[in-house]
Amino acid sequence: MIGSRIERARSAAGLSQRALAEMVSLSAMAISKYERDEVTPGSDVLLRLAKALGVRVEYFFRSEEVHLEHVEYRKRGDLKAPEKKKILAEVEDQLERWLTLEEFLPGDWSQKFDLPPELPQCIESLNDIEAVALTLRDAWKLGHNPIPDLIDTLEEHGIRVITVPGDEDELFDGLSATCCDGMPVVVVGSRWPGDRQRFTLAHELGHLVVHGRLSKNIDEEKAANRFAGAFLAPRDAIYKTLGRKRKLLELQELVLLKAEYGMSVQGLLYRAGDLEILSQGASRGMWTFLRNNNLYDKELGEPYPPEQTRLFKQRVYRAMAEELIGESKAAELLGIPLIELRQCRHMECPSHAADK
Ligand SMILES: [Zn+2]
Repeated sequence: MIGSRIERARSAAGLSQRALAEMVSLSAMAISKYERDEVTPGSDVLLRLAKALGVRVEYFFRSEEVHLEHVEYRKRGDLKAPEKKKILAEVEDQLERWLTLEEFLPGDWSQKFDLPPELPQCIESLNDIEAVALTLRDAWKLGHNPIPDLIDTLEEHGIRVITVPGDEDELFDGLSATCCDGMPVVVVGSRWPGDRQRFTLAHELGHLVVHGRLSKNIDEEKAANRFAGAFLAPRDAIYKTLGRKRKLLELQELVLLKAEYGMSVQGLLYRAGDLEILSQGASRGMWTFLRNNNLYDKELGEPYPPEQTRLFKQRVYRAMAEELIGESKAAELLGIPLIELRQCRHMECPSHAADK
C-alpha cells in the first residue's frame, strides 16, 4: 500500500525512479521494489523519501484513494503523458486531503452539487442559453452583477475546484472530471490570469448545465462557451453598458468592462457579437483590426488577478477551532510543518505558508 503512495508522490514531483533514487542515495531498483510493495522502507528511508518528494511522512500512510472518472483535458491535446500524470497526481492528492478532512466533518458542512429544477429540459438554440444562465444565477442568488469570486461561488455549490501550478510549457489548459459519488471536479492553473481561470470555470459549469439538454443541432462546446459568457456577463448588464446596437466599439470600453466582469477583452468582443450589439460585418472588422495590429492573442488591458481556492483551508481551520481535528492533523492536511501551523494560529504566518 505504501508502494502506490510513493509512486504517486514521485509522479507528482515529476521525478523518474532513477532521479528519486539519486536524491535519497539509493538504487533505482530499491525504489522500484518499494513501489511494488516487495520491500517496505524503514522509517529512516521514509523520512528521506518524504523530504525528497516534498510530502509529510503521514502522506505514505494515508488510506484514501481517489479515483477520478470522466477525466477530460481542455483543448490543448499536446500535453505530454508525464506532465498529465504529474497534474493528475497533484489533483488526486488535493482531493484525498478533502476526503480525509470530510471524515471528520459533520454532514451539514458539505454542499451537494444540484441543478435547479427550473432549468429547461431542452435547449433549442444558442440564444436560449442566455435565459438558462440567468435561471442558474437566480437559483444561486447571484443577482445580475459581476461575480466577485467565481471559485468560491462554485465551491459553495458543490463543485470541487482544484488549482495546480501546471506544467513548465504552460500547455495545461484545465480539466474536468468526476470523483467520489459523482461530485464534479474542475481543475485550473493557479498562476493563470484571473479572466482565463474564470472563463474556464464558467465553461466547465456550462457543460454541467447544458449536457443532455441540447437539441441535436447544437454543438456542446459552443453551448458551453456561450453559457460561460452569459453567466459571467449577463445580457441585460452588457446591453446597459454597451447599448443594444453599435456600429463600432472602442477597445477601451471593453478594457473597462474586463476589470468589472473578469472577462478578457476578446471574450467580451465575442459577447458583443453573440448579443448582436455589433453586426456580423462590424464584428469581423474589429477582429481584423486586432489581427492586423498584432493584438489578437495579446492580453489587453490590466491583468485580472488570479483567484484562489479558500474553502479547504477555511474548513481545516474551522474543524480545528471546533475541536474536530487536532493541530497535527490540520498541519498534515494543509501540507505545512506543525511549527508553521502554530505560527499561523498566532497570526505570524511565514509568507510562503499563507499562499500554500
Ligand atoms: Zn468544453
